Amino acid sequence: MAPNISTKSKRDIGWEHVEMIDNNRMLTKCKYCGKEMKGSGVSRLKQHIAGGFSNVEKCEKCPVAISRAMREHTNNQKKENEDVLAQKAALREILLEPIRKKFGLDDDFVNEEESDEEIFPMQREHLKISIQGSIRDIHETKSGLGRNNLH
Ligand SMILES: [Zn+2]
Repeated sequence: MAPNISTKSKRDIGWEHVEMIDNNRMLTKCKYCGKEMKGSGVSRLKQHIAGGFSNVEKCEKCPVAISRAMREHTNNQKKENEDVLAQKAALREILLEPIRKKFGLDDDFVNEEESDEEIFPMQREHLKISIQGSIRDIHETKSGLGRNNLH
C-alpha cells in the first residue's frame, strides 16, 4: 500500500507496531500482545512497547530489540522537546530584556536603599551576559535567525 501524504502524522514510527481499530486513530491495538488502548492514540502504545513508563503497562510479547529501539525513539523525542523549550525560554528572555531595562530604571526611585542600587545593575549585567550566550547558542543551532535582528 502506497503511503498517503495527507495523513502524514499516521506515519509515526509507532504505527509500525500498532494496529488501528475501526480506522479510529484513538482506538489502537498492540501488534505483539493485542492489548487495546482507547482514547490516547499511538503515543501511549509507544510507551507500552518501550516500557519504563510508570503509568503504562509494558508489552510482554514485544521483542527486546524493538522495545529498546522504541525507548531510544521516545527519549530522542523528549530531548527534542526540551531543546525547543529551552530555545523558547531564551527567546522570551530576549524579548523581555528591553522591558526589564525599562522597569529596572523605574525601580531606582522606588528602591531608595543603596544596597539595591548596587545589586540591580549587577543582576542586569548577569542577565545580559546569559542572554548573549543564549543568542549565540540559538544562532549556532538555528542559522535562520539573523544576529542583527536580535537588537
Ligand atoms: Zn503489547
